[in-house]
Formats: sequence, structure tokens, C-alpha cells
Amino acid sequence: MKVGFIGLGTMGTPMAKCLIHDGFDLLGWDTDEETLLGFDSAADSLEQIAQCCDTFITMLPEGQHVRSVYGQLLSQIEAPHLFLDCSTIDVASTRDLAMQLTALGHGFVDAPVSGGREAASSGSLSFMIGGDAEHVDAARPLLASMGKKLIEFGDAGTGQAAKACHNMICGITALGVSEAFALADALELDLGKFFHLCSGAAAQSWILENRCPVPGPAPNAPASSDYTPGFAAYLMAKDLELARQAAEASNQRTEFGAAAARRFREFVEAGNGDLDFSAIYRSIRK
Ligand code: NAD
Repeated sequence: MKVGFIGLGTMGTPMAKCLIHDGFDLLGWDTDEETLLGFDSAADSLEQIAQCCDTFITMLPEGQHVRSVYGQLLSQIEAPHLFLDCSTIDVASTRDLAMQLTALGHGFVDAPVSGGREAASSGSLSFMIGGDAEHVDAARPLLASMGKKLIEFGDAGTGQAAKACHNMICGITALGVSEAFALADALELDLGKFFHLCSGAAAQSWILENRCPVPGPAPNAPASSDYTPGFAAYLMAKDLELARQAAEASNQRTEFGAAAARRFREFVEAGNGDLDFSAIYRSIRK
């Protein structure tokens, strides 16, 4: 197996490094020159990846990027290749891509992730997996190298469906945690003590412990490093919009999810998209 890894950003680089560490033969590609220069096993071009690799992993920002890269790869290869998309994109695009690839004789698995760059670095991501059993079996050694929890939901697209629901919880939780910290600050509580309380009590969550929205209490959280992402606010806004679209398409009311989508969209439109999503706190604490 020769792996082409496309999209070497916050998540892609540490994921690709896990695969290399576990002995996979891998070439990486990214359109950002600086990112590519910093990656030891970089390809010269996407064409080189198409020519040399039989398995493609994508870790790209949005559906449009995945569609564009797949289009370029498909114009240069013949079946059968395995396409493993770990990006977070919309369910409808994923199902379309899966049908298109399957019709051409390729394999496709959608496997978006949860866990952030820390879990990506330690090979302990959670994968939400959709695809035919045969293709999921082929992808499993790769997924097992990058992740600890592999949950198979069913046909292609079900991984993205699970991810949309999962990230809706994250977005709503981020707003709840931020609002509670804003109130605690307004009430002149010691925020370090408040963090200590919540992290060991019923208010505990991954978002609270790893993305505490105020600088100080969690030294490794983005808030303690000028909100350097982590998980950029524009990606959170995108994910909440994907959940909103999925809710609309399935006729399920998601009132808090829709409110979270609106708040993060406004935050990004105000020029904060490249900050970690926990910086939403700044728009709440007046
Ligand atoms: P990122 O912006 O850090 O990285 C994306 C990379 O893709 C960039 O380096 C960019 O240059 C590259 N890229 C864009 N278009 C390209 C193209 N056409 N060809 C090749 N490279 C291209 O994003 P990220 O944080 O690594 O997130 C990637 C995906 O993973 C997103 O869908 C995101 O929603 C999801 N995700 C991120 C996190 C997180 O904590 N950052 C967690 C879970 C899921």
C-alpha cells in the first residue's frame, strides 16, 4: 500500500506522521508551500501522488476542497484506488462522491474525526466511519494507526452524519461554558477555582477541560496562547452549518444547534475566523 496524504494542516500533519511512524509508505501534499516545506515526506505535486499511490487520504477544510482534489486525482488514475476522506464535510456531498467513485470501481470511506490536534499527534483520534464493509476493512489498518476509537455507523455518509451531530454538541457546549465563565467573571469569582470546580463536577466536559475559554486555568488551552487554534472558529461555524443543513434535510428541529450556528457565523463574519473557537468568549463577556 502506498498512501497519498492530502491536506497537511493542523490535523493532517500529525495524522500523517502517525502513519509514517507505524511504517506506512506515505507521500504528503498541501497547496500551502510553507506547510509542504515543513513536511519530511512531501510529494512534488498532486500529480506525483496520483501516479505513485493506491490509497488517498484527504484532510481538507471543506467539501469544495475534497471535490476539487478528487476531480484532479480521478482525471489521472484508473480503478481501483481507495479514497479515505477524514475531513468534515456535508453528508450530501459525501454520498454523491461515494456513488461517483463506486460507479468508477474505486473504494470510498468517510471517516471524520474527533479529538483535535493533541489526539492527532498521539494517534488517539476517534473516527466516525461510513462505507461498504470491504472498503472499511481495507482502510482499518490506516484508521487504527491514527486513532483509538473506530466506530462504524453504516453506509457511506453515515460517518459525516455522526460527526454533524457530535459537533453540534461541541458548539452548543462551547457557548454554555463561555457564558458560565462570563457570568462567573461578572460575579468576581476566582476563575481558576471555578475551573477547578467544574472540571471535577457535573459541569465537566472535554470542551471545558481542553478549551477553557479564559486564559490561565488550563495552561495548554488555546485561550492561554492568545487563542491560537486548536480548532479554528471558522471550522466550528462550518460544522454547525453542516449540522443545521442536516437538520433541515431530515426535518428535525435543532433550536440550540441553530442558535450556535448563528453565533459562530457572526463571530467569523466579525473577522475572528482564524482564532480558536473558544475565543467566542470575548463576544460574550462584556
Ligand atoms: P487546516 O486549515 O489547519 O488544514 C487544512 C489544510 O488543507 C491546509 O494546510 C491547506 O493548505 C490545505 N488545503 C486546502 N486546500 C487544499 C487543496 N486543494 N489541496 C491540498 N491541500 C489543500 O484545517 P484542520 O484544522 O487540519 O482541519 C481539517 C479538517 O478536519 C476540517 O474539515 C476540520 O473541520 C476537521 N477537523 C479539525 C479538527 C481540529 O481540531 N482542527 C478536529 C476535528 C476535525
